Amino acid sequence: MNKNIYMIYGSNLSFMTKRLLESIDVYSQIGAKEKRIVIKPNLVIAGRPDEGATTHTEIVTATIEYLKDGGFNDITIAESSWVGARTEDAFHLLGYYDIAKEYDVSLIDTKRDRFRRVENHGISMEIAETALDAGFIINIPVLKGHCQTLMTHAMKNLKGLLSDKSKRDFHRYGLMKPIAALSDIIRSDLIISDGICGDLDFEEGGNPVRMDRMMAASDQFLIDAYAATLMGFSPYDIGYIKVASEWGIFSPDLSGVNIVELNRPQSSSGKPTGMAQRLAGYTAPDNACSACFASLIHALKRLDDEGLLSSLGKEKIAVGQGYKGKCPAIGSGSCCSSASVFVKGCPPKADDILAMLKKLL
Ligand code: SF4
Repeated sequence: MNKNIYMIYGSNLSFMTKRLLESIDVYSQIGAKEKRIVIKPNLVIAGRPDEGATTHTEIVTATIEYLKDGGFNDITIAESSWVGARTEDAFHLLGYYDIAKEYDVSLIDTKRDRFRRVENHGISMEIAETALDAGFIINIPVLKGHCQTLMTHAMKNLKGLLSDKSKRDFHRYGLMKPIAALSDIIRSDLIISDGICGDLDFEEGGNPVRMDRMMAASDQFLIDAYAATLMGFSPYDIGYIKVASEWGIFSPDLSGVNIVELNRPQSSSGKPTGMAQRLAGYTAPDNACSACFASLIHALKRLDDEGLLSSLGKEKIAVGQGYKGKCPAIGSGSCCSSASVFVKGCPPKADDILAMLKKLL
């Protein structure tokens, strides 16, 4: 198994996407030029990416440009919004009809696709033929929270390739087993993770957290297991990852994972909003990089979820490059290495920060 996860920080999404695609050598991975390539973004609702729900459109267009430059021309964008929402509304809002015309690619609302019924692990589902017949699937999920599954990323993003009937059935079956079963059928060949500003805990957005980070990998299970730790979870906390591991589909053991950083995190210029703003009240940022600050916010959210946030003392948690050489009481990230208590990492992962905070309680 390829255990590389490529990571890049910043806000120039087109540049970042192309760097990731180059690094992972996507042309060699696809192979034959005539392969049918399916790009699967996350357009769960008609919402703007900066609200934390949907894939940034620049990532999709940069991917298409990169593929076309390499002579790959059989490209389809395939997606459907959740039950009750019209995918056309998301296509309109985010400019997908213009993209399809400008780049001469197919655009399929998978709610209107033909479906084939497939059964796996005792779960029957209708999957869009576009996905089942694809030669190479590029999955572009948003890394964000979810009110039932805690996290949604590559594996859960595949749900947009089901009929609405099967989407409803998935909820009836409790989501975790069906998502694991679907992920066993549809294996993304490449995952480009939109970790720019996913929502803290709702897939429909509203509380985005600026992370300014993207990742790429060729293993949807590995990248989901790793992504869980960036949000302050253990991979086993995410029900569908746990089920997939119990079924022997993969092992969420992250010991051999190889994080290939293509650049360094950058200072954030944005201000937290919504729930992130409330959690930021427990922090004292000074020139903090977005990914570093986001890790701290995610860790504080997990503490809040467990009802432990109010047990934190009055001391605010230092984070940011402004703390180099200073001695705050509690710090998050290697810039705070002179703090009395700190968690190392540049940026640190949310699960490590959470562990440190719990020790302080
Ligand atoms: S430890 Fe310092 S340099 Fe590293 S990500 Fe955090 S703020 Fe940025």
